[in-house]
Amino acid sequence: MQVPDPTATKPSNFLRQIIESDLASGSLDGRRYAGVPGDARQLADAPPDAARIRTRFPPEPNGYLHIGHAKSICLNFGLARDYGGVCHLRLDDTNPEKEDEEYVQAIRDAVRWLGFDWVAAGVSHEYFASDYFDIMYRAACALIEAGLAYVDEQSADAMRRNRGTLTEPGVDSPWRARPAAESMQRFAEMREGRHAEGSMVLRARIDMASPNINLRDPTIYRIKFAEHHRTGNRWCIYPMYTFAHPIEDALERITHSICTLEFEDQRPFYDWLLGRLADLGVVARPLPHQYEFARLNLSYVVTSKRKLAQLVAEGRVAGWDDPRLPTIAGLRRRGYTAGSLRLFAERIGVSKSDAWIDYATLEGALRDDLDPRAARAMAVLDPLKLVLVNWDEVAGASGLEDCSAPVHPHQPERGRRQFKLGRELWIERSDYAEQPPKGFFRLFPGNRVRLKYGYVVECVGARHDADGTPLEVHARVLPDTRSGTPGADAVKVKGVITWVGAADAVAAEFRLYDRLFVDAQPDAGGRDFLASLNPHSLRVARGWIEPDATRAEPGTSFQFERHGYFVADASDHTAAAPVFNRTTALRSAV
Ligand code: ATP
Ligand code: MG
Repeated sequence: MQVPDPTATKPSNFLRQIIESDLASGSLDGRRYAGVPGDARQLADAPPDAARIRTRFPPEPNGYLHIGHAKSICLNFGLARDYGGVCHLRLDDTNPEKEDEEYVQAIRDAVRWLGFDWVAAGVSHEYFASDYFDIMYRAACALIEAGLAYVDEQSADAMRRNRGTLTEPGVDSPWRARPAAESMQRFAEMREGRHAEGSMVLRARIDMASPNINLRDPTIYRIKFAEHHRTGNRWCIYPMYTFAHPIEDALERITHSICTLEFEDQRPFYDWLLGRLADLGVVARPLPHQYEFARLNLSYVVTSKRKLAQLVAEGRVAGWDDPRLPTIAGLRRRGYTAGSLRLFAERIGVSKSDAWIDYATLEGALRDDLDPRAARAMAVLDPLKLVLVNWDEVAGASGLEDCSAPVHPHQPERGRRQFKLGRELWIERSDYAEQPPKGFFRLFPGNRVRLKYGYVVECVGARHDADGTPLEVHARVLPDTRSGTPGADAVKVKGVITWVGAADAVAAEFRLYDRLFVDAQPDAGGRDFLASLNPHSLRVARGWIEPDATRAEPGTSFQFERHGYFVADASDHTAAAPVFNRTTALRSAV
């Protein structure tokens, strides 16, 4: 994949070109808007729409949003913002069984957190598809009356059989030619709850021989005795997505209805339906148009609410905001910033052909977003004690020396962090080697390294336990080599190590996350994605951090020097018991 230059102005794409040409040609002119969604009657005397375009982000509230939705949010809200339009947040809740208020709230949170808003000029454009059930019912009745829909009482099996195949036309239902009045009667009975689920459906009457199977009299309403999260038990018939969605778009005066490529074959039905409903005076012209773009596929990730829900329900992760999940809530808790997700969306762009995006692209956007912003700190994740055996000669009576380092190396105005250097400190276990491999420049007996922001020290040995594992490393300080003093450059060393002082370091928990799946395409080709779960996706380390970092508010990001980006956990971090999640490692280790 080619990553566009992030410094360039907004790269164009086929959707921008379509919108620009629509605006130039005047094809969107004449749209009326009554301030709220409405059918043709409600719009008849409405003023012209002040919004130059209208887009919508239409999630079904049946789960938490994921990184793929973030792409769609950035796209739809971004286009509206850039072209003087409005983007609606539409909760597409036409399928009662899996929908829930918890998800509605989570969706609002995710959109707002990403930096977008459905309130434009003081008007909220949050809508629920279920608010349109009455109009949808009337639309269905209008189709029946016009001979464009009928109630079919075939069994589900018979319907499937009679639908035909890609090479064979379908077969007409015996109910296809029934009089409109009879269908109308049956449809009313369906609504009244007088027929069992699955006993009959309402179908559009289009063409059973159409080469596009979606046009072979698609089902538009079915019976479902399910309680809906907003309409309760008022309805026992529910519209199909393919019927509901175009109507929702038309009522909301959407101009560009942008969806993923799987819906390309549905576009002819979208246009058929709205064309008929406009002719019947149900919805107003000009009509919305559907455009398809390639969904986001990200390596090492599953982006399907159903599969994510399964991971949560089966306890394979700790919840919808588990930092290993690609949900927006999980990414946020992992330390991904809203800016990094927007940058990612911009870099991957939109296209008409499906592709897999490497997870590294997401991590790259995160680093580019955080590098200029995250405060630096030192942390030791796998601690080994270092004892400076001649410290008393250097530090004198107090035993501790003040040290400081910039909060950000390129932003001196952000000040300096303070910490203490003393006789004992914590270093990374991996910074010491008894038998140094070739090219190892850190601590080993006889070698000199610099303690970052401190002195050059020379390793003089170590104390071991019975198995020979080092318990503490011993080193001698070279006086007059302290960083920032005239003698600092007198002794040349090849290695610099980070550390925290035993006197003022704070014990901390580090949650080291790795990918949730070991397979780059865990669910490709219908594979069992659970089979490639990574058993080591979370490792908890206990170590130490410098004192200033503990005072961070939950949700604050840091770059731990040499380790990578971490975030103070939004739920569990406190100053007394700090908890940091590793967001991502640095580009190149040490
Ligand atoms: P899922 O299968 O995960 O439930 P969905 O498409 O069924 O996804 P919706 O809630 O219907 O979920 O999606 C809301 C919007 O987000 C739709 O317009 C859809 O096109 C878009 N969307 C969903 N997944 C992706 C993705 N991976 N990449 C880009 N857009 C997506
Ligand atoms: Mg879906």
